[in-house]
Amino acid sequence: MTEILRAEALCYRFPGAVTALDGLSLSVDAGESLAILGPNGAGKSTLLLHLNGTLRPQSGRVLLGGAEARYSRAALNDWRRRVALVLQDADDQLFAATVFEDVSFGPLNLGLTEAEARARVDEALAALSISDLAARPTHMLSGGQKRRVAIAGALAMRPEVLLLDEPTAGLDAEGAAQLITFLEGLVAGGMTLVFSTHDVELASALASRVALFRAGQVMATGAVGALLCDRAALSGVGLAPPIL
Ligand code: ADP
Ligand code: MG
Repeated sequence: MTEILRAEALCYRFPGAVTALDGLSLSVDAGESLAILGPNGAGKSTLLLHLNGTLRPQSGRVLLGGAEARYSRAALNDWRRRVALVLQDADDQLFAATVFEDVSFGPLNLGLTEAEARARVDEALAALSISDLAARPTHMLSGGQKRRVAIAGALAMRPEVLLLDEPTAGLDAEGAAQLITFLEGLVAGGMTLVFSTHDVELASALASRVALFRAGQVMATGAVGALLCDRAALSGVGLAPPIL
């Protein structure tokens, strides 16, 4: 297996707050679906923000394809193209007037022509089954539609790694099931997926490997089948095994 992304001994403390990442190390292999599983406040979102360079660690480092990540503007642009992050709250992510414009933003920013960008956008909207929403104002979308638009925007960058923060949060059961099926298809097509969740069922459904987080540290990592059957490991982070 080829490592694509690695966090090494990351420490991060928000100003005036508790330590969010406490010497955390984690490796991501190309083509895997990795669940970052842990209770609220465990540091999941903070880690994802480090994995695409949005936050810079106070100590430790991130490696992308074996090379230490840099924080110059040019390096960050390249990094975020290769590692796309879908935030938990789509309202933090969607800012253009229409769906089409929003999904176009990344490709145009890459310097693609309008025709190339349009082809990318059409492809991404079709993949998410939201082609009919292209002209819709982003503020007129449901939560589930916003999540799809945010994912389309990430995919339009043709990233190597897709990071998703709590991808099914706020979706109803049917919306969540559809999204899981879509993400499974992406992984089957070779995408590397890293997603955070506090939902053991979601980890069980979508991940091949799980990293258990608590208090800014990785408590355990393992294959999804083994780790999610490990009652002691799960209860150590305040979670219960999935209902099978
Ligand atoms: P998770 O995603 O696992 O719920 P987070 O990474 O959001 O956890 O948070 C880790 C810790 O950092 C928590 O104690 C949280 O309260 C704190 N934290 C997160 N974001 C901020 C912020 N913007 N300012 C201050 N503290 C924060
Ligand atoms: Mg979070």
